[in-house]
Amino acid sequence: MRYHFVVNGYTEDVQSQMEEQKGFAQKYLAGMEQKEAIIYCRNSEDVQKIQAHHAKEAVFIKSKEYVPEHILQVLCSQAGTEELYIFGSDDSGMELAVRMAARLLGSSVTEAEKLYLPVKGQENSGKNHGISVSKMVYANHMEGIFAMKRGPYCISLARGGEWQELTPGMFCVKEEMICENQADHILSQKFYPEASEDSLGHAKVILAAGRGVKNKENMTVIDETAKCLGAEVAVSRPAAMNAWKPMNRLIGVSGAMVGPEICITAGVSGAAAFYAGIEKSKFIAAINTDENAPIMKMADVAVVDDFLPVLEELKKLVTTKNPMVISYTICK
Ligand SMILES: Cc1cc2nc3c(=O)[nH]c(=O)nc-3n(C[C@H](O)[C@H](O)[C@H](O)COP(=O)(O)OP(=O)(O)OC[C@H]3O[C@@H](n4cnc5c(N)ncnc54)[C@H](O)[C@@H]3O)c2cc1C
Repeated sequence: MRYHFVVNGYTEDVQSQMEEQKGFAQKYLAGMEQKEAIIYCRNSEDVQKIQAHHAKEAVFIKSKEYVPEHILQVLCSQAGTEELYIFGSDDSGMELAVRMAARLLGSSVTEAEKLYLPVKGQENSGKNHGISVSKMVYANHMEGIFAMKRGPYCISLARGGEWQELTPGMFCVKEEMICENQADHILSQKFYPEASEDSLGHAKVILAAGRGVKNKENMTVIDETAKCLGAEVAVSRPAAMNAWKPMNRLIGVSGAMVGPEICITAGVSGAAAFYAGIEKSKFIAAINTDENAPIMKMADVAVVDDFLPVLEELKKLVTTKNPMVISYTICK
């Protein structure tokens, strides 16, 4: 097996990306044959101007615009099935590693931290599936080890891993390929900025919706109530997986760990993986039709009812600035 570094030459921090790749290879790929680096970039001068390299030879894939589809086409056309491709730790590295492996029916792991090579002589023994890669999972609570069973093996590195100084001097250019700039597979595109994940971390009031909310349409009630309360909206995993809200709104061991003044849950059962994310809340109010749901025992206030009429009522109370609501909050 041989390995290639795949470098994103469009980014400003191309040098640190290469240093991480070199550090990773020195630690985990000793003895493995290194092949030419594959560098996708606007132009080779951007990369060569750092006057340092981590592979003797390089192939440049040049395109005026960064169009992943076109870079992918070139990468796939050049790929060998039993080779390891080490992408950088940025979003582009993650995307291309996964898409390349999927297209070529290989294996991919993103944010790889460690790599284990098969023991010599046992490669096909059944015990040894080839390369294994470890990465942190469930919000850094656990280390997962993934067996990569089929090549090409495409990994992107975790941010902030081991690094090694680059070798002074430029890459020896083996080949330069020019990509089409026409993004003909994209008919139109629009970008919607997402609220940063931090907004949950700093929220004073959170309204968290669970599977009991039943559908995306009902999330409007959650959004409206949250607006009245000055709360951030969060979701449990089933709600996030149903795309009722983006993944950066997920609370729990796989998402954000929060500690607001008040956390209101609606249609959330209170599974341990979710509760771990809200247990630091100062005050928890749970709305659930099932009085035996675990969240009801853990909440400071448990309302056994359908979340819809309860939230409608809460909205009314807050918008009419009912003094009872204010004193109720102060009491706690
Ligand atoms: C390794 C691992 C990691 C995980 N990480 C997370 C994580 O980070 N975050 C997370 O949330 N989950 C996580 N999970 C999943 C977790 O175990 C639960 O499955 C999940 O939290 C359940 O979500 P829920 O409470 O929305 O849904 P459910 O458990 O299905 O609960 C829905 C609740 O809604 C109530 N309900 C139904 N209708 C209404 C209504 N009209 N009004 C009011 N209440 C109603 C029901 O009585 C029920 O209690 C993880 C699981 C694993 C295995």
